[in-house]
Order: sequence, then C-alpha cells, then structure tokens
Amino acid sequence: MIADLHIHTTASDGVLTPRQLIGLAWNIGLKVIAITDHDTVSGLPEGLAAGKECGLEVIPGVELSTEWEDREIHILGYFIDWHHEILRSFLAQMRQDRWKRLSKMVARLRYLGYDISEEEVKEEARGEAVGRPHVADVLVKKGYFPDRKTAFLELLERGRKGYVPRRKVEPGEAVEVILKCGGVPVLAHPGFSRADGLIPHLVNLGLWGIEVYHPSHDQEAVERYLQMARRHNLLITGGSDFHSPQGEYQLGQCRVGPEEVEELRWAHRQIIKRKALTYNLTKDLY
Ligand code: AMP
Ligand code: FE
Ligand code: FE
Ligand code: ZN
Repeated sequence: MIADLHIHTTASDGVLTPRQLIGLAWNIGLKVIAITDHDTVSGLPEGLAAGKECGLEVIPGVELSTEWEDREIHILGYFIDWHHEILRSFLAQMRQDRWKRLSKMVARLRYLGYDISEEEVKEEARGEAVGRPHVADVLVKKGYFPDRKTAFLELLERGRKGYVPRRKVEPGEAVEVILKCGGVPVLAHPGFSRADGLIPHLVNLGLWGIEVYHPSHDQEAVERYLQMARRHNLLITGGSDFHSPQGEYQLGQCRVGPEEVEELRWAHRQIIKRKALTYNLTKDLY
C-alpha cells in the first residue's frame, strides 16, 4: 500500500504547508499522494514542485463542497487540469462565498457572546478556503473550547447556534465541473456523509469512483462500498483525510495500492479522450 489519496494542506484547513506535507509523506514511506484541498488548488504548485524534488508522485486534486438533502457531500477530483478556466471561475465563486459567510458567522458568534473578529480568522486561515475549522481554531486559542472537535460539536455543526450555511452547490454540478476540466470525479467518504442514496444518481451524472477506504468507515462500511463499486462499475479509492499531526486522522492511515492508482490514471486518460472525441464530433456545429 503506497498511496494516500486524500490530504489537506494550509491552502485550505490543513496545518502543514504543501512542502512540509511532502516531507512527512516521504518520511513515512508513501510513494504517491494526492493533494485534495477544500475548494482550492492553490497548494498544488508548491506540492507538485516539492514532490518532484524528492521523487514522490503528487496527483493534483481538489475536494469540492456540495450539499444534498441537508447533508454535506464532498466530491474529489483527481488529475484535474487545475489551470482550467471553468475550474478557476467555479473556485473563485466558492471563495467569495466563503468570505461572505465568514462575515455572517463572525456577526452571529459576536451576538452569541464570543469575542472574535474577522481579522483573527483571516490570520488563522492563511490559505484561500476559509472555513469553520479556522473559526474553531480561533475559539480554541481564546479558551472557549478545548479543541476543534468540541467547538464543532457544541457550536459550529449544522443545527448548532453558530452554524451559517454556504451557497448551495449541487453534487452533480461539482461532478460536471470536474469532468469538464479532465478530472476524475470520486465521491468522498460516503459513509461519513450518509450519501448511499445519492450514489446511483451521481453515477448517471458521470461519477467515476467512490472513496471506499476512509478513517470514518468501519469494516462493514468498507464491504458495503466495495459491493457498490462493483455493482456500478466504479473505481475504488482511499485516503486518510489528513489535516494535522495533532488531528484525528494520521497521514497514511488509509492507503491504496499501485493498481488503484493506475486505474485512476487510466480513467483520467479516458475522460480526456472522450472530451476530445465530443469536441471533434461537434465542432462543426460551432
Ligand atoms: P466548512 O467547509 O467551512 O463548512 O467546514 C467543513 C470542514 O470542517 C470539513 O471539511 C472538516 O474538515 C471540518 N469538520 C467538519 N465537521 C467537523 C467536526 N465535527 N470536527 C472537526 N472538524 C470538522
Ligand atoms: Fe477539512
Ligand atoms: Fe471531506
Ligand atoms: Zn477532506
């Protein structure tokens, strides 16, 4: 098992910079990693460069936040063309929305009696995709909660007093954006998101894989998703969803082997070929 395909950096809500992450990955003997920050690709240039320097393969990726039936659904995109204009403008919108939501969230928390400012959260976020984890970290630093997890549980989770939603993006829209940009769309941690009922619908929209191996999945969940992958002819992926050495999940905790990485690469080639074919068949129309 050589590959961890789900990892966050300081570009979103992880605590290691892409370069620090590569160092740790190399140290623990990983051969392939995918950088999959929430709603941003800004960690990729540094990550890809650092990977090249030490001979560790870095797959460019992203994890898009969407919503379905009041649940958070995350769609991973592997081998995505991260320079693509469609992705750029989609992410710019997401980012703008995250900043707007931060203002609302800070106002709400101040109203609830928490002494917190937008500036403090911005400082904590550093990267591009500011989110609830950064708000949680500020609240922890100020002594309101012992850790991120408790801040979420008591204040920031959906349904709690401090929760402010983001702009709603349909999971299908994220799948479409990823495909248009040559990426391989994969449903992240379906067990954690309680997304089983969504899988057939996403398969119709062009989903290529499901994240079977994730630290939140027990053995029973892994078996269930392996079966679903077989039934719908989907690729199998896995990763640790690593955010921080002090966090719940450790780097390399969930891995896949070289076969899964090769299948992902193959899927990427198919998606690119189909795009070219569609273009050749329809270009006369324009
Ligand atoms: P946001 O994108 O700002 O809505 O924040 C969502 C992110 O917060 C997720 O991607 C996780 O990284 C983190 N998160 C969600 N729920 C929890 C939780 N219960 N404890 C700790 N982190 C969480
Ligand atoms: Fe996260
Ligand atoms: Fe996720
Ligand atoms: Zn993640």
